[in-house]
Amino acid sequence: MSVKTPLKKDAPLLEVKNLETAFSIDGEYHNAVDNVSFTVKPRQVVGIVGESGCGKSVMSLSIMKLLPKGIGKIRSGEILFNGVHLENMSDREINKVRGKDVAMIFQEPMTSLNPVFSIGFQLQEVLFNHMKISKKEARLKSIALLKSVGISRPEKIVDEYPHQLSGGMRQRVMIAIAIACQPKLLIADEPTTALDVTVQAQILDLLKEIQQVNDMSVILITHDLGVVAEMCDEVIVMYAGKIVERTDVDSLFHKPKHPYTKLLMGAIPKMDENVEVLSSIKGIVPSLKNMPKTGCKFAARCPQAMTECTTISPKLAENEDGHEVSCLLYETSQPKAGVNA
Ligand code: SF4
Repeated sequence: MSVKTPLKKDAPLLEVKNLETAFSIDGEYHNAVDNVSFTVKPRQVVGIVGESGCGKSVMSLSIMKLLPKGIGKIRSGEILFNGVHLENMSDREINKVRGKDVAMIFQEPMTSLNPVFSIGFQLQEVLFNHMKISKKEARLKSIALLKSVGISRPEKIVDEYPHQLSGGMRQRVMIAIAIACQPKLLIADEPTTALDVTVQAQILDLLKEIQQVNDMSVILITHDLGVVAEMCDEVIVMYAGKIVERTDVDSLFHKPKHPYTKLLMGAIPKMDENVEVLSSIKGIVPSLKNMPKTGCKFAARCPQAMTECTTISPKLAENEDGHEVSCLLYETSQPKAGVNA
């Protein structure tokens, strides 16, 4: 089964509705993604940001149905790709979608590429899985794909092994594998984090170019707001498994609303300011076992927390111009007296 049917005009490409994904710890399931809903339109680049442990990667693994078996599971909610439900697909069905309609690249290509197979073998594996193609055609297509991601001497590289390539080249190979079947949605999980700064910029430029040339939608998972500014149309900020803010990229950078987003912004180094120490966010994201049972999950770290923040859970609500935020400061009936400031 493939979901590569013609895109419906103006319909979202991906719809995630009330998704709850849980992990088992000591025999008890805890939500790592907690009632999350969002959409990705055709050709849109959506950034998902937040610190480690906020649920960003679990979200992408849920969409791809790559959760570790017996440990992680989708508890409830729906994931629709081009109108087709993915969440209940069998392994056989989802294997036909993965790599063809939806593809993913990860942070560390060395862990995704198989060290014992040549680059060409790994590219051709994806092509053979999803296309009726001869060996000769697959080899030629692999070389063309390597060339399209900016790898020079692709005729030679196709026969090399991952350990013979630099980190930047390995990530280019991963991108070539991901776009081999021209997916409509690419999920990129921290695609540049493991790379040098100059190589990061090259890979981001490449992703941007490929997204535009192939008319792809992209979900870009990152903790780096600089990457978001560079690449994204819309941004989702996650904290402790929940969406706390969602808006377009301009609005996020010029009018951030949620206290967590404002603190993330404050932690970005600025070229025009002579700051000796960057601000950081005090404390850490609560672990799944120690998640607050009531109230706002950010309350213990929030400089604007109010007494009621520990008892009342804020709801994600549209604020203005489609800017959504989940914070009691923006729920008009709540008083505005800070306690953690
Ligand atoms: Fe801070 Fe309260 Fe808003 Fe949570 S609801 S972000 S604790 S002000």
